[in-house]
Amino acid sequence: MRHIAIIGSGPAGYYTAEAAQKQWGDEVRVDIFDMLPVPYGLIRSGVAPDHQSIKGVSRRYEATALSDNVRFVGNVMIGKDVSVPELQGLYDAVVLATGAPHDRKMDLPGENLPGVYGSAAFVGWYNGHPMFAGLDPDLSGDTAVVIGMGNVALDVTRILAKTREEFAGSDIVAHALDVLQTSKLRKIVILGRRGPHQIMMTPKELGELSHLTRAAPRVDPLDLPEEGEDAFLEPGLRKSVSHLRSFAAIPESHYGDTPIEVEFDFFASPKAILGTDKVEGIEVERTKVEAGRAVGTGDTYTIPAGLIVCCIGYQTSRIPDVPFDERAGRFANDEGRILPGLYCVGWARRGPSGTIGTNRPDGFSVIEKIGEDIAAGILGHGGKQGRAGFDELAAARGLDVVTFRDWKKIEAEEERRARDDAPREKFVVVDEMIRAREG
Ligand code: NAP
Repeated sequence: MRHIAIIGSGPAGYYTAEAAQKQWGDEVRVDIFDMLPVPYGLIRSGVAPDHQSIKGVSRRYEATALSDNVRFVGNVMIGKDVSVPELQGLYDAVVLATGAPHDRKMDLPGENLPGVYGSAAFVGWYNGHPMFAGLDPDLSGDTAVVIGMGNVALDVTRILAKTREEFAGSDIVAHALDVLQTSKLRKIVILGRRGPHQIMMTPKELGELSHLTRAAPRVDPLDLPEEGEDAFLEPGLRKSVSHLRSFAAIPESHYGDTPIEVEFDFFASPKAILGTDKVEGIEVERTKVEAGRAVGTGDTYTIPAGLIVCCIGYQTSRIPDVPFDERAGRFANDEGRILPGLYCVGWARRGPSGTIGTNRPDGFSVIEKIGEDIAAGILGHGGKQGRAGFDELAAARGLDVVTFRDWKKIEAEEERRARDDAPREKFVVVDEMIRAREG
């Protein structure tokens, strides 16, 4: 019997468990740990609440979770309740699938002013992550600046721009819906330090901006390169750029019909966040792109704003005893191997890039490596206690483990209390989640 511990119950964690099942069938036992009492990580707390079809992938993870040789061990924080070396003593292999839940820092003056948020916090707020549920952003100003031109910037912009009716069918949490209702925003500026040919936004997500009830995208035609140059782009990016071209062609009269303007500000690099007690604006330097890099021109200007959301990427959380690559913001690893018997997968391995599906081959590849290390005798010859040993440790420490069966009760309770037009109303406080398992 092989015993595998996976830390993190998001996509990378469940794909790794699925791969372990495929590789070893009944010969493996997999425990998937999560610090929260609820599973699915990024699917629950990262994917936008109005993208329910993407969240549907959790049904696939549930099939894995319900099999006899995989179990969910929720409400246990590895590195605090139990250490990684302790897990290594109990399991043949420990796989860190902890994602990248922290914001990369801008390192700008004024970054810590109230009203400036990283996307992990802001997305966590509208998705009801317990760590960020209390954010309560002030939307009384008329301008928000969203920094970054990736898909997270699009998610944040869309959520800020939608009407209550447009959230029908979504699982946006009630506290966010209530605050968004009070919004006085008239303008959302999306700031990119490079140009239209360097955006990280994918076509489907970018196209959604043209279907918003009360907002319209605005692109300055002068920012767009000659149309012929689009031919050299890879097809996905070419399609995204064609959306930008259609935004640039929107007639001026159209903006009068929509109260919110979503303005793309290209070639604009943030220099300082301005304000005394809270954010009042952002100072930006005009750039030009040379050999693919943004180079400052020395021209600066200020955008007054009452809300700034930095969507510039994420980093992995450190875990005591695990080597960390400071520069890359993830665990130090060689294609998923950290130390003998210790591995990482998904964003914790490669950084925050790719789609949810990218994590599937990643999960299969780490299991292949574990198989190779077993064959090479690097992981010893079995005989570890696995879940029985963990259960003893958990009992000795008085850990209140939440099982998958408990989660199904929490889930049923979230569905029961949902608004009429929503699939669920999430619990946003850990104690409430735990109480909900009592039914
Ligand atoms: P991302 O795609 O890497 O985009 C980050 C953006 O931030 C880039 O435009 C980058 O510009 C900019 N940036 C980075 N550092 C900056 C700085 N110091 N100053 C100004 N701008 C800076 O990251 P993301 O949007 O967080 O997305 C993470 C991953 O999740 C991506 O793979 C994304 O596709 C995926 N995702 C997918 C979906 C979906 O499919 N619906 C939704 C959300 C997220 P440069 O290019 O100039 O560095």
